[in-house]
Amino acid sequence: MAYDSNNIFAKILRGEIPCNKVYEDEFALAFRDINPQAAVHTLVIPKGAYVSFDDFSTKATDAEIGGFARAVQATAALEGVTDSGYRLLANHGKDANQEVPHFHVHIAGGEALPEMIAKT
Ligand code: 5GP
Repeated sequence: MAYDSNNIFAKILRGEIPCNKVYEDEFALAFRDINPQAAVHTLVIPKGAYVSFDDFSTKATDAEIGGFARAVQATAALEGVTDSGYRLLANHGKDANQEVPHFHVHIAGGEALPEMIAKT
């Protein structure tokens, strides 16, 4: 699947659409999910143009992958969920109901979570 530079997260990265920013560095941007499914529900996206985890892990450089992982950790720390615990989730493709075709990791926490996050 080719990257669509008009997807909503690409627009957020370009500053065309606002977001509630939590963290940013050269590799990643983190912001609150517009429709939170948990007390803490924050999205972390790489700055590069990758459709999904599969695309990112195939094509991104080691520096981008490492930087992204560190940004996820930093975001969780800023959200105050490191000690209480959190869940990471990344939807790839149709069967996972991926909605936005720019790779993103969901950080969910801030309360006891159900067994899995179900999308309704
Ligand atoms: P996916 O199903 O692709 O893994 O999840 C996409 C997530 O992006 C959803 O949880 C949805 O609420 C969130 N989302 C969609 N559009 C926007 C937006 O414009 N701003 C923010 N902050 N989150 C969005």
